[in-house]
Amino acid sequence: MQNYWRAIKIALQYRWIVAGAFTCSLMVAVLWGGSIGALYPVLQVAVNDQSLQDWSNEQIAESKSILESKQAELQREGLPEHELIDLQDDISTEQRTLAWRQRVSWFVRQPWVPRAPFRTVLAIVVILVAATAVKGLFIFGNLMFVAQLEQRVTYDLRRQFFHRALRLDLDAFVEERTSGLLSRFNADIRFVAEGIRTLFGNGIREPLKMLSCLVGASVISPRLLIFSLVLTPIVGLLIRKLAGSIKRANRRVLEEITQLYGVLTETFNGIQTVQAYTLEQSERAKFYKVAKECFRKAMRISFYNALTKPITETTGIAVISMALLSGAYLTLNRETHLFGIRLLSRPMDTASLLIFYGMLIGATEPARKLSEIFNAVQAGVAASERLFPLLDQQPKIENPVKPITLPAQHSEVQFEDVSFHYLEGTPVLTKINLKFHFGETIAIVGPNGCGKSTLLQMLPRFIDPSKGYVRIDGIDVRDVRLKNLRNKVGLVTQRAHLFDDTIYNNIRNGRLDASETAVIRAAQKARAHKFITETLADGYETVVGASGSRLSGGQRQRIALARAMIRNPEILILDEATSQIDIESEQLIHQALEEFSKGRTVFMITHRLATLSLADRILVMNNGQVEDCGTHDELITRCELYKRLYSIQFKQSA
Ligand code: ADP
Ligand code: MG
Repeated sequence: MQNYWRAIKIALQYRWIVAGAFTCSLMVAVLWGGSIGALYPVLQVAVNDQSLQDWSNEQIAESKSILESKQAELQREGLPEHELIDLQDDISTEQRTLAWRQRVSWFVRQPWVPRAPFRTVLAIVVILVAATAVKGLFIFGNLMFVAQLEQRVTYDLRRQFFHRALRLDLDAFVEERTSGLLSRFNADIRFVAEGIRTLFGNGIREPLKMLSCLVGASVISPRLLIFSLVLTPIVGLLIRKLAGSIKRANRRVLEEITQLYGVLTETFNGIQTVQAYTLEQSERAKFYKVAKECFRKAMRISFYNALTKPITETTGIAVISMALLSGAYLTLNRETHLFGIRLLSRPMDTASLLIFYGMLIGATEPARKLSEIFNAVQAGVAASERLFPLLDQQPKIENPVKPITLPAQHSEVQFEDVSFHYLEGTPVLTKINLKFHFGETIAIVGPNGCGKSTLLQMLPRFIDPSKGYVRIDGIDVRDVRLKNLRNKVGLVTQRAHLFDDTIYNNIRNGRLDASETAVIRAAQKARAHKFITETLADGYETVVGASGSRLSGGQRQRIALARAMIRNPEILILDEATSQIDIESEQLIHQALEEFSKGRTVFMITHRLATLSLADRILVMNNGQVEDCGTHDELITRCELYKRLYSIQFKQSA
């Protein structure tokens, strides 16, 4: 519930919209009860065939005669205590009734109140139709206000969600999976917002309508009303029991929708693999299974929703029947007591009884809708319990409270006793101690999975060491603002991601304020300018397709390199940037790097011989540890692992 409160608070920020919705609801409710009440004079006129004025006079006369007789009774000596109290009670009630009746009498004697019975009915019918039209206007207003509220809450939640998602750690995306985030973004936010719409719309309107009818009924007879309502707590209990089930059912559906998104994104992202390995059937089977589960869980919600309706309806009828029977008994027998309980101060006339019934029916109609409201709100509660914890998730990689600014140009990068594990008990890096100087080009080699990428990911803080420090000029990178740190680092990975945008914009993503000449310069440096202008019809305006799918691997990598270069980074990290591309592109990238590495610190994870020749020093890693570090000539004589790696490569390229 606490989480749902936060959604409600978002809605409450739009005070004017909420106020507008509430005012409209209030007007609808008043007109609803009022319309039923307006039938009272119609009934009086129809049943008794008298004009309103005659009826009013009769009423006053009746009240006065009752008062007289009661007061006379009060004068009698020797009355028992409780009868005395009853009498006094009756008298004061009757005095109030008389006051009301005198007011009504004043009203009906106004010149514009019709005299003849039929004209009275006609006037009231006209008023009723007009009132219904006005009520329609307010309903329209109410619906528009709450729709506005729903969309604003949706908009706010979406913004918050995206804002938060961008700050999540990279491994949160692995854990939650993109599909999980997508389904939350879609289904959960929708459920929450729909819950808010229902709560502030129907959720206020229908109870107010009920209230206005109950007030109307209590004007006729408060005690009979209470007696009629004795059954309602049972409905409350039943509904409460259902609440938990409905919430659970909704949560399960949302979980299932997440699964569904998972299958969808997996299949679509890997569509080529699916088709190449003719996995269509097994993917279909996976999808059907989840979709079926989704269907079953959704049916469960429908089951509970369907259940609430008959329950509220049956109890509603039970309430009316109680009133019907007791009211009929009292009226037909001209009684005031039932089972020894005094329900009326004096016998009720037929018209009052009918209006009393009318009011109760008027109150059960909205009560029936309460079940729908209730279900929608429960769905919102379930969704908000999934949504808000995600919004609260604190990224592990955060800006420091008191950031230190890195010097304009660093002079050394140091790994000090760095250990790291993804999972407790399986160390990926152990006690790494390394120091690199500004301007060095370092190649990192080692068997697959030995922790090369992990090590370099600590530099721009995609991960933090479990133990030890990564320092730039002695400053722990955790003490530096992320923006400051990452601005100094350029990163090109094995499959660098390009956005589905033009080549120009993709390069400019490296530095958003770059000029056109800077973009072209970067492309030239990355040896991409030639193919962009010569082989692509639209040149820099070519749209690269989702993840750059319209370019070849080598072209993609060179665009990615241009994007890194335009940043003019002091530290460049290339994580197997050339390992999956054609020889020509590789050679071009080499030329580019040879030029570009001057005056920067460059880390290259590679196992290509050609790339190794660019390096000042080569770092050999094995099993999460530093095996050796030195020049090629040093290593080839003293490092067994290096020799082995080198000879494998040598054989391959020979
Ligand atoms: P390299 O780049 O040297 O091939 P990595 O640094 O990518 O190796 O990975 C080192 C080890 O950490 C591997 O055993 C890999 O399975 C594991 N690993 C990498 N990323 C994760 C992750 N997100 N969660 C758990 N284990 C991981
Ligand atoms: Mg790697």
